[in-house]
Amino acid sequence: MNKQHILVVEDEKNIRSFLKTVLTSNGYAVLTAETGEEAVTLLSSHCPDLVLLDLGLPDTDGQVFIQAVRRWSRVPIVVVSARTHERDKVLALDRGADDYITKPFGTPELLARVRTALRHAEQRAAGSTPSRYRCQGLQVDCDKRQVLLDGVPVHLTQNEYKIVSLLARYAGKVLTYDQIIQHVWGPNAAGDNRILRVNMANIRRKLEGSPAQPKYLFTEIGVGYRMAESEL
Ligand code: CA
Repeated sequence: MNKQHILVVEDEKNIRSFLKTVLTSNGYAVLTAETGEEAVTLLSSHCPDLVLLDLGLPDTDGQVFIQAVRRWSRVPIVVVSARTHERDKVLALDRGADDYITKPFGTPELLARVRTALRHAEQRAAGSTPSRYRCQGLQVDCDKRQVLLDGVPVHLTQNEYKIVSLLARYAGKVLTYDQIIQHVWGPNAAGDNRILRVNMANIRRKLEGSPAQPKYLFTEIGVGYRMAESEL
C-alpha cells in the first residue's frame, strides 16, 4: 500500500515523538523536522502529502514559514500550536494554513483534522469540490441550490445560502470570518463581522434545533466557523 507521508515540524522532542507514534500507528509514513530550514529541505526533497506545523520554531516563526511555503507549494498545512491567541490562528489561516489544532489535543481530534485536510487537498487536486453534503438530518445540494432539514426544504436568503453552501463545501475545516465575508460580500467588503454574525444567528435558528447546542455549525471563538463533517 502506498502510504501518505506527513511531515511533522516541531522542536519539542516529546510532542514530536508523540505525533510520530500516533501517525505511524494510524498508517501514515512520518518525516520529522526540528527547524524551519530542515522542514523546507524535506518539503522540496520528499514532497509530503501534509505538514503538521508548530508555530514556535527555533529558527523561524511558523507564520513566516507558511507564507514562504505558499509561494511555491499547496501542500496542506495543519498548524499545531500551544498559542491560544485567536489572532495567531486567524493569521495562520489567512496566510494559507488549512486548519489548526491547539495543544493539548486528543488523538481522535488530531486524526480528524489530518484526514479532513488530506481529503480537501485530494478534492482540490482532482478539481472537484463536493457539491453535496449530508450530516444527520441536514442535506445541502449545491447543484439544486437546495437545503433540506429532515427532508423538508429550508428557506434561506441568498446570503444565508451562500454561507451555508461555502461551509458545506469545506465541511470539517474552519473558515475565518474574513474568508466567509469575502466569499459572500466580495473582496471590498468591510472587515466587520457584525453582518456575518447576524446572518449566522438566522441560519442557526433555521437549521439547529437548539442553537446553544449546535449539531451542524460550530463557532471557533474569535476565528470563524466550522461545519460538521459530511457523511458522504
Ligand atoms: Ca515550539
